[in-house]
Amino acid sequence: PLPRIRGDIAFHHVVFEYEAGRPALKGINLNVKAGQSIALVGHTGSGKSTIINLISRFYDIKSGSITIDGYDIRDVTLESLRSQISIVLQDTFIFSGTIRDNIRFGRLNATDEEVEAAAQAVHAHTFIEKLPKGYDTEVEERGSVLSMGQRQLLSFARALLADPRILILDEATASIDTETELRIQEALKVLLQGRTSFIVAHRLSTIRHADHIVVLDHGEIREEGSHDEL
Ligand code: ATP
Ligand code: MG
Repeated sequence: PLPRIRGDIAFHHVVFEYEAGRPALKGINLNVKAGQSIALVGHTGSGKSTIINLISRFYDIKSGSITIDGYDIRDVTLESLRSQISIVLQDTFIFSGTIRDNIRFGRLNATDEEVEAAAQAVHAHTFIEKLPKGYDTEVEERGSVLSMGQRQLLSFARALLADPRILILDEATASIDTETELRIQEALKVLLQGRTSFIVAHRLSTIRHADHIVVLDHGEIREEGSHDEL
């Protein structure tokens, strides 16, 4: 098992292919210090989702290695690896149940107070309180009661409650109004605090706030640096 980690992540010349002979990543080197946020940008098919999928070891790489705090992720149990990672996907996973249950999915033994504190911290509390039954409002899997922005905030509350060392975020591309956008940016700041994060970033504001930006192109890093450097 992996001990409670700091969250340093490194890719050492990682080559990966979904199909033999067609590398999706062609020798990726990355060195991310604990607590840093990395924005991954690049055209469709450039390898952004592939990079974040490999951190949780959803696939095995062809050559090279990925380490967390210096431990090769192939040498630790999947359970201990994944227990340190929270993933917030573009199409946020909402299941049928109450809002409270959906947030608590981040940590099943959390108290009601902890659930609400997490929602407060990411500014989701305000909209939840306005729902017919507040935290006890039932939502559907497709989340029709909730807007895209609200679904995103709910998933942030869930991830915050889970309190992982590593956060992976595939940012939604859906257009949202300016006010929600601002709220999401604020929430993101809270969520990223003190964790190593990989963000597949679509919004300029997100890219600007990242500590380090990696530009991918056909499975290779074309450019990297801070927002000011690029
Ligand atoms: P997008 O912006 O569209 O999400 P991306 O940068 O996330 O793109 P990836 O999904 O990482 O791109 O894909 C990288 C390459 O791997 C592409 O050529 C893609 O076609 C291929 N690929 C991705 N997933 C699979 C899969 N499950 N099986 C086979 N090939 C795949
Ligand atoms: Mg993708």
